[in-house]
Amino acid sequence: MIETISSIVEWQALRGQITKTLGFVPTMGNLHAGHKSLLERSVKENELTVLSIYVNPTQFDDQADYANYPKTLEQDLNLAEQLGVNYILTPSYDELYVDNYRYHIIETELSKTMEGKSRVGHFDGVLTVVMKLLMLVKASKVYLGEKDFQQLQLVKGMAEVFFVDTEIVACPIVRDVNGLALSSRNSRLSPEQYKMALNFPRILSQNLPIQTIKQQLNDCGLEVDYVEEYQGRRLGAVKVGDVRLIDNFYSC
Ligand code: AMP
Repeated sequence: MIETISSIVEWQALRGQITKTLGFVPTMGNLHAGHKSLLERSVKENELTVLSIYVNPTQFDDQADYANYPKTLEQDLNLAEQLGVNYILTPSYDELYVDNYRYHIIETELSKTMEGKSRVGHFDGVLTVVMKLLMLVKASKVYLGEKDFQQLQLVKGMAEVFFVDTEIVACPIVRDVNGLALSSRNSRLSPEQYKMALNFPRILSQNLPIQTIKQQLNDCGLEVDYVEEYQGRRLGAVKVGDVRLIDNFYSC
């Protein structure tokens, strides 16, 4: 039977009793097949699985994006239960940020590029909340998606330098039948915008010079934020209307 816990104190008491292997999947909810793949892997590889659902305000630079972030808790709980998740953590801001975000984790290089350049302070918020959750859950393994490749590298780096005792498992990107990487934000695309958005993975996946890729994205009406090569990947972000999409592919 799945248990939903919103009180951190209650979770800590419960965590003290757990001796089994624990897999952890942190999310912002509105679960889709990408999240499902992480949860399935955790359920398979661990005796118990914890899912957290928390739309973290400190990582949003755009308040409208935060306010519009889709919330589907009831549906998420049903999916988690079907998948065999044991615990769902839904902490409150007041309990998670007792300091009102006075203490942060700041990485000074990678976090300032690509996503971090466009979304100032984004990774400070991400790293801070991930560290808090890792400290609370004390999981054997945490499952993160390669969809957020820069975030994955930053969390890996943070876990290493702060001696976090949780193994980080990177999971491949899940796409829809048309190749668009699944994202909670895709539901905000109109049918026309969705059609336009399909050009993003089609063009970004091509082995072409960065300038050519940018030009082709522009020609399709996509507003390019960045396209960059990093650690054998080509990463990109575009805007379709007011919906921001990110993706990445292996680059040869
Ligand atoms: P989010 O709820 O967007 O914060 O994502 C929670 C976790 O799910 C992160 O580790 C993401 O990288 C991962 N994730 C999101 N979308 C996908 C996807 N399409 N494929 C694989 N993992 C994903």
